[in-house]
Amino acid sequence: MADYDVAIIGGGIHGVGIAQAAAAAGYSVLCLEENAWGGATSSRSSKLIHGGLRYLQTGQLGLVRRCLNERDRLLELASELVKLRSFYIPVYDGGRYSAAQIRWALRAYYLLSGLRETGLYSELPETRWADIKGLKTEGLQHIFRYYDGQTDDQALTCAVGRSAQALGAILCCPARFDAATRSHSGYELIFYEAEIKKRASCRVLVNATGPWVNQVLSQIETPTAGWRPLTIDLVQGTHLVYPAGLSEQCLYVEAPSDGRAVFILPWQDKTLVGTTEKVYQGNPGEVEPLREEVQYLQQTLDTYLPEHQLRPEGRFCGLRVLPRSDRAAFFRSRDTQFLFDDPKHPTLAILYGGKLTDYRATAAQLMKQLSRTLGKRTPVADTAHLRLLAANRAA
Ligand SMILES: Cc1cc2nc3c(=O)[nH]c(=O)nc-3n(C[C@H](O)[C@H](O)[C@H](O)COP(=O)(O)OP(=O)(O)OC[C@H]3O[C@@H](n4cnc5c(N)ncnc54)[C@H](O)[C@@H]3O)c2cc1C
Repeated sequence: MADYDVAIIGGGIHGVGIAQAAAAAGYSVLCLEENAWGGATSSRSSKLIHGGLRYLQTGQLGLVRRCLNERDRLLELASELVKLRSFYIPVYDGGRYSAAQIRWALRAYYLLSGLRETGLYSELPETRWADIKGLKTEGLQHIFRYYDGQTDDQALTCAVGRSAQALGAILCCPARFDAATRSHSGYELIFYEAEIKKRASCRVLVNATGPWVNQVLSQIETPTAGWRPLTIDLVQGTHLVYPAGLSEQCLYVEAPSDGRAVFILPWQDKTLVGTTEKVYQGNPGEVEPLREEVQYLQQTLDTYLPEHQLRPEGRFCGLRVLPRSDRAAFFRSRDTQFLFDDPKHPTLAILYGGKLTDYRATAAQLMKQLSRTLGKRTPVADTAHLRLLAANRAA
């Protein structure tokens, strides 16, 4: 008999989300994280719990609808960790998108949110434009307001991890996965917990290692004939960190050089400006913001808040996992993709890409597939109703 029903490699939002969902469904769970819970991509995002207004442009309506649904769920379940914020979109003469197009997009966002209050949007009257302190007024035609959620991504990841533990999942960190071989009952694993070599067996193995996904996959024995990993690109996204006082409002603006959406986001006692999209080919652990990304973000900020005198006090960079394609990163799917050794009776599941916002729905979808191998158990909880508490409130 295997030691665990499910073993998960990776302790980002997806790894702990799957641990929570598997434990809630009544399975025994082991989750391994090499460095720190949420210490990689899941602490370097834009920290938005959102539908992704800009994904409407690429027609990803299913993803936007699901993420809006999850956003509203997290606003309730994780009310200490996810807060609703007003976002402002200024529209200028000669901008890439007209006021009519923005209105259309916000209407679609409202419809996809299920006509909920959190999907409401409005246009700021000219008499209120001065509320957005420091915003460039030359050529300003309209300012739209809508709502989305904001979080501390790493704190949210840790809260989901604590919830998984409370349901009985075993979470190990630092624990570096080393190798896995196939056995009659699933997989035999070798990992190093605080440099001590350990072994465990599981019925189903999940690779949720974000940008390391194919690197880690090469350490796992896989079926041979006709089976291939997905080909992916790693696309880096940089944020600049400014001291507080840059902007009191969340702004959604167009980068002057290429019209891409850039956010200016008050966050905790700082302001974040991001992000970028540059294909990255190195080791995921060594990604660094590039000088050209810093210039791109600074130029965008200087365009919209021309009076500001502040210098960035920090920067951070994360990697998106996107399907490989000749198309610009913007046009590629942001949805999670699963790959299985055998879709009918999986013993190995590999997760590619995805959104912080969508982690719970992603994990639920994966567990549905894995239950074909694991069989049904009596659930001990439903993640759709489990509260997530901030660290100082956790039991
Ligand atoms: C710039 C940027 C901005 C984003 N903004 C948003 C946003 O605002 N809202 C949103 O919803 N989504 C956003 N996303 C997407 C979101 O951040 C990611 O989808 C999510 O964080 C990915 O989580 P993950 O668990 O798959 O990967 P990760 O968080 O990278 O976790 C993978 C983990 O695997 C571990 N690992 C690797 N190898 C091993 C090993 N051998 N043994 C043990 N552990 C190992 C790593 O240490 C790491 O902690 C953004 C992404 C980027 C890059």
